[in-house]
Amino acid sequence: MKLKDKTALITGGARGIGLGFAQAFAREGARVVIADIDIERATRAAKEIGPAASAKKLDVTDLAAIESVAAEVDREFGGIDILVNNAAIFDMAPVTDITEASYERVFGINLKGPLFVMKAVSNLMIARGRGGKIINMASQAGRRGEALVTLYCASKAAIISATQSAALALVKHGINVNAIAPGVVDGEHWDVVDAHFAKWQGLKPGEKKAAVAKSVPIGRFAQPEDIAGLAVFLASSDSDYILAQTYNVDGGNWMS
Ligand code: NAD
Repeated sequence: MKLKDKTALITGGARGIGLGFAQAFAREGARVVIADIDIERATRAAKEIGPAASAKKLDVTDLAAIESVAAEVDREFGGIDILVNNAAIFDMAPVTDITEASYERVFGINLKGPLFVMKAVSNLMIARGRGGKIINMASQAGRRGEALVTLYCASKAAIISATQSAALALVKHGINVNAIAPGVVDGEHWDVVDAHFAKWQGLKPGEKKAAVAKSVPIGRFAQPEDIAGLAVFLASSDSDYILAQTYNVDGGNWMS
């Protein structure tokens, strides 16, 4: 019970990696609030986890909603101890095909959202005066470019940088900020990616996913629970001396 009596706010926790974190945090004794744009799915997910979990509707591009949801959770649960900035979207286009609309969409959800969620939650953590843990979801895509993934890669590189700056600003308040950079994690997201590659590279459905799985040194995609162990560690007091880091959880990384 490494997170006993802690309250965790997880954006985009209705499915995928965020849901895996919500389940793992609840198993470790935390109260978990899933904040997701898909409120039906978030509510279903919270119900399945049990009384330790609840759901709130949140679009992370809506700055007023971020402030009010964060304040609501802080009030209802007597503070937020752990924030996971997990909500993000994928986008595939080479630099020749990006548009202003796709830029606004990807950077709105993947960078502006997490920055302002960090702002709202860290101010609440500072006001409570008992520190906290912030985990930002980066990606291997933020470590290196991918020809067909311009905006997503750039947004995740920015998250790695924002993690370092936020960590240095918040350390004096006892708030640790770190990031996790997964490689390839199985889930609905990858079905969409696979379909994009099929379109761009003339592949058959499932072909890209199978090739990627084969190229990971460990020989498979990660499952959300493969990432959750590190998240529990970074959310717990075991990681009190660790800040400003981005950790790879990538099975040895993959070749595209
Ligand atoms: P996913 O697409 O399965 O789930 C994303 C969740 O975010 C969904 O529940 C969705 O409803 C929610 N969401 C989308 N837009 C939102 C918005 N505007 N406001 C609030 N919620 C919103 O994603 P995933 O594959 O589980 O990835 C989770 C995180 O891990 C993301 O930050 C992603 O970039 C990162 N990541 C994923 C992989 C991978 O292979 N799946 C690899 C590296 C990093």
